[in-house]
Amino acid sequence: MGLNQYEERRGTVLAGRALHQKHEKENRSYVPAGLSGKKLIGLHLYSGKLGLSGKIDEVIDADEEIILVERKYSDYAIIGDTLKTQIGLLALLLEENLGKPVRRARVIFAKEDWKMSEVLVDESIRNFALRMLQEVKEVIKSGTDPPESPDGRCHDCCFRKVCSVGSLYIDK
Ligand code: SF4
Repeated sequence: MGLNQYEERRGTVLAGRALHQKHEKENRSYVPAGLSGKKLIGLHLYSGKLGLSGKIDEVIDADEEIILVERKYSDYAIIGDTLKTQIGLLALLLEENLGKPVRRARVIFAKEDWKMSEVLVDESIRNFALRMLQEVKEVIKSGTDPPESPDGRCHDCCFRKVCSVGSLYIDK
């Protein structure tokens, strides 16, 4: 809807960016345990077909596949809808641009703790991500709020003061 998120003012976002920058600068050739291939970092990819661009922090380019590596500055090691959407769309961008299949993603949660989850990138995650992309495009096109219910995420949302759902929730 053309609204700036001002994410650079949020401490958790800044800490997450610092984590990514650290991994982009240090150990540039280090490949996470159990994976083999060439590490590629900081890829900016675009798909005209999907109408989508994205920055991919880290992948392993193996012989027969691309393995997506996502690092999260969080100890909340849950693969929720936001992460599923991100993984599905980045996998589609990688496949279109690099011409190899993405079958799995490794998600590393690191803050106080360290946890790793391997996510299967199958048709259901791709279709889910495409559906989310379509819904976001509808919001952009129509300029109307998506159907949403308030929850704990509204407290830390950049849009809570202008969102019709979040502003009512916060006021309570
Ligand atoms: S304030 Fe809540 S409902 Fe509104 S955009 Fe943010 S998270 Fe979503």
